[in-house]
Amino acid sequence: MILIKEVEIYSPDYIGKKDLLVAGTKIIAIEDKIEIKDIDCEIINSNGLKLTPGFIDAHVHIAGAGGEGGPATRTPELQLSQLIEGGVTTVIGCLGTDGMTRNIESVLMKVKALREEGVSAWMYTGAYQVPTPTLMGDVGRDIALIEEIIGVGEIAISDHRSSFPSTNELIRLTEHARVGGMLGNKAGIVNIHMGDAKNPFQPIIDAVEKSELNYKQFFPTHCNRNDYIFEDAKEYGKKGWIDITTSSYPYFPQYEIKPSKALKILLESGVPLENITFTSDANGSLPDFDLKTGELLRLEMGLPKANLTEVIDAVKEENLPFEKVLKVVTENPATILKLKNKGKIEVGKDADILLFDENYDILHIIANGEFLKKDNKILKKGAYEK
Ligand SMILES: [Zn+2]
Repeated sequence: MILIKEVEIYSPDYIGKKDLLVAGTKIIAIEDKIEIKDIDCEIINSNGLKLTPGFIDAHVHIAGAGGEGGPATRTPELQLSQLIEGGVTTVIGCLGTDGMTRNIESVLMKVKALREEGVSAWMYTGAYQVPTPTLMGDVGRDIALIEEIIGVGEIAISDHRSSFPSTNELIRLTEHARVGGMLGNKAGIVNIHMGDAKNPFQPIIDAVEKSELNYKQFFPTHCNRNDYIFEDAKEYGKKGWIDITTSSYPYFPQYEIKPSKALKILLESGVPLENITFTSDANGSLPDFDLKTGELLRLEMGLPKANLTEVIDAVKEENLPFEKVLKVVTENPATILKLKNKGKIEVGKDADILLFDENYDILHIIANGEFLKKDNKILKKGAYEK
């Protein structure tokens, strides 16, 4: 048991200064005062720390990705410490550009590895390409039958690396994901990689208009990658989800909208807060192509802590309230991805908890009831980390 005393709780909505009790993997009580006697219980006197849900990062290339600059540019697998640095207690893995030499099996094994190491993890089946690689021959079967798989993605559209699925192909893929989600009681969502082509949302709009699908079946990411997609996102975000990629900033400041600023502008444009998420795109390669020749200019790699950096910047630089900003990395992705026990500080939810000091540094991290970081010291390392 862990008892956290007199802590400012952001559920993410601010609910006041309270005591919070963890037993096993769950939050079991939140009260004005909790006294524990005669039971073995660790007590944290918080002295006014801010307590929030652990962050959810819904788009991470956990088993590595990239390779657009040749074999030597394949990115490595994610390490546990990278999640801890970013306060991430739940991660969703995806394959990415390379659905040709990498596979779904290795993403699934990495999900299992991360779970063994103490965090929560799920994944999307598929890759950029359509037809997309799967484990069992169809995205619907993967989603319905494999516990770790909650959707499909990232499927690339409006990008020079996309296989340019036709409207019918996109509808069929999304319907299969949706039905797989219904059968497996999961989100069955289609995570969409948005590229640099003009009118980038058009393939989704066409698919919705020519089918019975809803906009919220699609979860488009990289919506801040250039000024024209961002312009379109201000309208699209009124009916569908808008995911902002955080780790590519500041590598491409000439094209990208800084995520903390993007959040503020989207809210001012009338996009509902609950439609907006941040994901890091960590361990994805960040290739910079010459827009005229298509030649690769350079490559960078993202990290999970980019979400944390941008959340803090949104509070400190854009003056957005902490409790609102938190939603884009907690409650909103949990709702979109139907992760019922995640994203909120409530009795009965999983004990995924961050404790911030007054400078917004994370002093303690609890994932599934276990400390990953305590008194500013990382307690757990991945298998081959020093
Ligand atoms: Zn992508």
